[in-house]
Amino acid sequence: MTVSNILVLGSLNMDLVMQTKVCPAGGQTMHGDPDGFHTGAGGKGANQAVAVARLSNPSDTKIYMAGCVGEDVFGQDMLRGLKQDNVDVDAVKVIPNKSSGVAMIIVESNGENRILLSEGANSCVDVPFVQALEEKIQHSDLLILQLEIPLLSVQKAVELAHKHHVDVLLNPAPAVSLSPELLQHVSYLVPNEHEAAVLLGCPESPPTAQNAELYADKLLATGIRKAVIITLGSEGAFYKTKTGESAHIPAKKVQAIDTTAAGDTFIGAFSTSISHEKPLKDSLQFAAQSSAITVQRKGAANSIPTYTDIQNILK
Ligand code: ADP
Repeated sequence: MTVSNILVLGSLNMDLVMQTKVCPAGGQTMHGDPDGFHTGAGGKGANQAVAVARLSNPSDTKIYMAGCVGEDVFGQDMLRGLKQDNVDVDAVKVIPNKSSGVAMIIVESNGENRILLSEGANSCVDVPFVQALEEKIQHSDLLILQLEIPLLSVQKAVELAHKHHVDVLLNPAPAVSLSPELLQHVSYLVPNEHEAAVLLGCPESPPTAQNAELYADKLLATGIRKAVIITLGSEGAFYKTKTGESAHIPAKKVQAIDTTAAGDTFIGAFSTSISHEKPLKDSLQFAAQSSAITVQRKGAANSIPTYTDIQNILK
């Protein structure tokens, strides 16, 4: 049996979530909901590593996380969580005298969120850190990247992957415009509709299921090596390959409760499938199936389904 090695290089954040009827104004102290506080491990990097780990057959996939956490309880908690999901964390560095990345999230009862991010130790994922990962990158079948670490480090990682002929999946989130030097070494570009629009310089007009092909064509023209996959929320996803194959992958019809981590689940499921050389379309259908489960559960990483969940549904 061939074992595939998947490396995620990216962010680890602890979400600190407080629910309240209303937000305090400046200078005001008030009570939030009595049982309204919870923490949850997050960060797109860590979420995608968890998604790959949960949605893989453990006997044929090894998943590695690379990134930085601070020397604090959040860092320890995130490392413990990843290990519980069988993610190898040898390449997660604990940075002395630094805080872990944190997202402070205030959720008002009208559903409005206010989020304050501190990148903390994620800023220590610098170019020398990535250079030191060269051997790990070389021995990977797929490298998964997002944009919650410094852009120069993402650039360095794609260069190293290119040098060693390793496929790169880039989830360009949060979106910024990217250079052709970076995009030309990306095998699979997986933006959501808003990120696709930002990449193409038209943030005010995101693609729809009807016109996504136009956007995919323009993104392919930037030099993407294999395929562009645009996710469209409840509208599903659209893909087009360098060889001209394209299709719309409809989302499963489900009652969505919380769409947090839908994109991360989609990427994790797709990655494990494609790394085993399954056809692209089948891999995307598996991704749609997996993320449809995530949206029916409340929470972030904890809502990502497992390989067994999927096997049970397919029975
Ligand atoms: P992101 O979380 O990155 O914004 P999307 O919202 O585009 O990503 O969601 C990723 C995938 O999750 C979609 O392509 C779709 O397959 C699935 N999905 C998202 N929202 C829903 C929904 N309401 N119902 C069913 N599937 C959904």
